[in-house]
Amino acid sequence: MKSYLAVALCLLPSLSPAAIQVVTTTEDLAALAREVGGGLIEAQSIAKGYEDPHFVQAKPSYLLKLKRANLFVQIGLELEVAWAGALLTGARNSRILPGNPGFLDASEGCEVLEKPLSADRSQGDVHPLGNPHYWLDPANGLIIARRIAARLAELDSAHAAEYRSNLASFEKRLGEKNREWALLAKPLNGLSVVTYHNSWPNFARRFGLRVVNFIEPRPGIPPSPAHVQTLVKQISREKIALILIEPYFDDKLPRKIAEDAGAHLVILPPSTGAVPGIKTYFDLFDHDLKLILSALGKTAVKS
Ligand SMILES: [Zn+2]
Repeated sequence: MKSYLAVALCLLPSLSPAAIQVVTTTEDLAALAREVGGGLIEAQSIAKGYEDPHFVQAKPSYLLKLKRANLFVQIGLELEVAWAGALLTGARNSRILPGNPGFLDASEGCEVLEKPLSADRSQGDVHPLGNPHYWLDPANGLIIARRIAARLAELDSAHAAEYRSNLASFEKRLGEKNREWALLAKPLNGLSVVTYHNSWPNFARRFGLRVVNFIEPRPGIPPSPAHVQTLVKQISREKIALILIEPYFDDKLPRKIAEDAGAHLVILPPSTGAVPGIKTYFDLFDHDLKLILSALGKTAVKS
């Protein structure tokens, strides 16, 4: 009887739900947290992958999740400035406020492109501190994963070795995928594209694309008829084959531009969770590279 009780007591901790609650602003951050947190954490994202991360209707139910959270992770660079701050203060959980161990800004240490010398809000665009879509380079994904793993090890030191080992497997797998993606992206080298929002500078640099213009004249600013006219002329003059748009923009105008200029429209997801097939951070690059390649009518290189 005694030994039976001892066994039962030993089993108890493993029956309890994941001890560490992680709330992230975007699904890419939640996906990376799951890679390094494994079964020790529960990660949930406030924004869904199919939503424009600049403008999210955050549900009040997230106040409760944030209240219980041990770790909050944001993209930063003002990506979530319109909606995350109010939730964070409203949750009344000092553990996850900036400056405390439960708050992590994922942009620190990442390679951020288009950084202005000083914050410039005079143009009214939504990228005043540099381009906040930096998770679209797997090299930055690795930096984010390392920082989340280190922070989890600090918050939950009893399992530090496990977080380290999860990170090691993630790094190994990412290394393999990087080689695969580099091969896959070879036909894209030097390909000129136009995108709706300025979401893709890190992705473009990693995979050799050239983003030559945007449907939005500045990030978050809707296009004027004059801008659209200039764009149509540029796309047909420069024979740009592809227009890439994020799934959360109305595709009516982009379709018209593509038609008038003789280009193809590709609806390209910039986040994990944007479509049912993109469940992990790895899926995102697999999906997007193959989508661009198939739009180009090229056969994917088999590794
Ligand atoms: Zn943006």
